[in-house]
Amino acid sequence: MPRAIDVHVHPSTVEFVDGAMGEYTPACEAHFHTTLPRHTVEEMADVFRTAGILGVLFAWDAETNTGLPPVSNDFVWRCAREHADAFIGFASVDPLKGEAAIVELERAVRMLGLRGLKLHPTAQGFRPDDRSIYPLWEAAEELGIPVTVHTGTTGLGAGMSGGGKMKLEFSRPIHLDAVAADFPRLQIVMAHPAWPWQDEQLAVALHKTNTWIDLSGWSPRRFSPELMRNIRGPLQDRVLFGTDYPFIRHEQWLDAWATLDVPDAVTEKVLLSNAQRLLALDG
Ligand SMILES: [Zn+2]
Repeated sequence: MPRAIDVHVHPSTVEFVDGAMGEYTPACEAHFHTTLPRHTVEEMADVFRTAGILGVLFAWDAETNTGLPPVSNDFVWRCAREHADAFIGFASVDPLKGEAAIVELERAVRMLGLRGLKLHPTAQGFRPDDRSIYPLWEAAEELGIPVTVHTGTTGLGAGMSGGGKMKLEFSRPIHLDAVAADFPRLQIVMAHPAWPWQDEQLAVALHKTNTWIDLSGWSPRRFSPELMRNIRGPLQDRVLFGTDYPFIRHEQWLDAWATLDVPDAVTEKVLLSNAQRLLALDG
């Protein structure tokens, strides 16, 4: 049994850092005040094993919008298969690829056994409530998998001219409100405290019980009083520990969390049992 489940993990390997992130990596490193490692899969798995943390490892496919190579679902499948004590795999598909994206999602879940889908509207260049995307939501609901969707600003293109062509507006949480309404059996995880639209995100989460918030990408030291009030209170069963590894490291996040005044029972939900429920893992 891991002591925590990190629901937001990118590979700290060349496939992600130099491949899928490409020319965005230096700006991203500056944004997070970090230098990214280039691990082997074994080294990456050891980071999680040593920490006693099970990581939800994300594939990445924003090929149409960025022209950069994907982190394939097969790569993530191999990581999770070889290191089942360290990782659970989430698929990624490129929504702009249309029908091919749906076929790939079905393959990734049914054939490879990946346990969820990760999307990034800004990186992938789509608006979640666009009707052309609805068949993808329908497929995810049908497959019974949770979908994690990036919300709020992003380190991708941060500090670059034109934001590296990245459009923030696609990642407004309110666009997921319609999706959650139209697909009530679909579990939607809004990734990150969605600055500058955190009120919007909290409104969606408070209104629709098939939505969740992952707390990755920010140090808990910077969580707003309003977010903390909801974590301690009405949203305590639907907020999830996540780091956005390798941009933020486990000890960085957990040390900051420990300085906050959160009851132990709530910490246990955030670090472990909420994710076990979302991912249907045995507790
Ligand atoms: Zn991320």
